[in-house]
Amino acid sequence: MSSLSPRSPVDLHMHSLHSDGSLSVEELVARVAERGVRLMALTDHDNTAGIVEAQQKAAQRGIGLIPGVEVSSEWSGIGIHIVGLGIDIHNRELQRGLARIMEFRDWRAAEISRLLAVAGMPGAEEGARRLAGSRMVGRTHFARWLKDTGHCQDNAEAFQRWLGRGQVAYVPSDWIPMSEAVDWIRQSGGIAVVAHPGRYKLSGSRLRALCEEFRAAGGGAIEVSSGSQGAADREHLGRLAQQLDLAASLGSDFHGPEIGHAEIGQIFPLPEGVQPVWERLGYADFSLH
Ligand code: AMP
Ligand code: MN
Ligand code: MN
Ligand code: MN
Repeated sequence: MSSLSPRSPVDLHMHSLHSDGSLSVEELVARVAERGVRLMALTDHDNTAGIVEAQQKAAQRGIGLIPGVEVSSEWSGIGIHIVGLGIDIHNRELQRGLARIMEFRDWRAAEISRLLAVAGMPGAEEGARRLAGSRMVGRTHFARWLKDTGHCQDNAEAFQRWLGRGQVAYVPSDWIPMSEAVDWIRQSGGIAVVAHPGRYKLSGSRLRALCEEFRAAGGGAIEVSSGSQGAADREHLGRLAQQLDLAASLGSDFHGPEIGHAEIGQIFPLPEGVQPVWERLGYADFSLH
């Protein structure tokens, strides 16, 4: 890693084998330690199956662990990811909600597989499930299977040709409304965060409308600095957070050493003037200024 790469001791967005990450929880926490990150959140998609082990492994290494999840939701017809930080994983409302999303994912996996079979590519669901390290099957697992079986060159092509919106095996996603995701997270004692706001390709006014609605629903923060959005988005998002009285989060969105996005802790610091979300979660001593 070049010394020019940004390094942050806080990283509040990353994935393990319990969703579409490629590392086990144990490997992930070991890498967090190697990268010098001292406060982490595990935020697998739509489930919290890795949290208990993450808490144990982080405690052994003296790393602060914030229990998290990244909920797939929908606002105004587009998929919006809402990260929950500081959630109580035993909360029944939250787990009931996540179970509903996982059921939808199971149904959708069968449907994607059926559409790929019609297009001459049988066996996709079995293939994707073999590649998945847990029960959660997502489109990135199908993309890996399509690549492994020679139907495309890489992840981007898998989405362009088969899995992306409007393509042969695209199944319109029936995610829960964003306000419901915010509600479950709040009911479980957590803070809801708009994940990678720079990635939804929204105009300034639409993004503001999204964040205003998010705040009205009880949302608490936006990801001002993210490994999966441009560094240039930071200043703009920091101002938006301040104007709407939302806290600011930061996270790499790490999925694995060989999978896109940024490395653990490879994120630019928050701009001046915003309130770091971890202060609201009781980790004031991690302030970085
Ligand atoms: P899922 O939640 O199963 O629908 O999968 C969504 C994930 O697929 C996103 O988090 C991205 O990592 C990936 N993805 C979505 N659209 C694209 C695209 N056009 N190109 C590459 N990856 C994509
Ligand atoms: Mn993912
Ligand atoms: Mn996401
Ligand atoms: Mn993510």
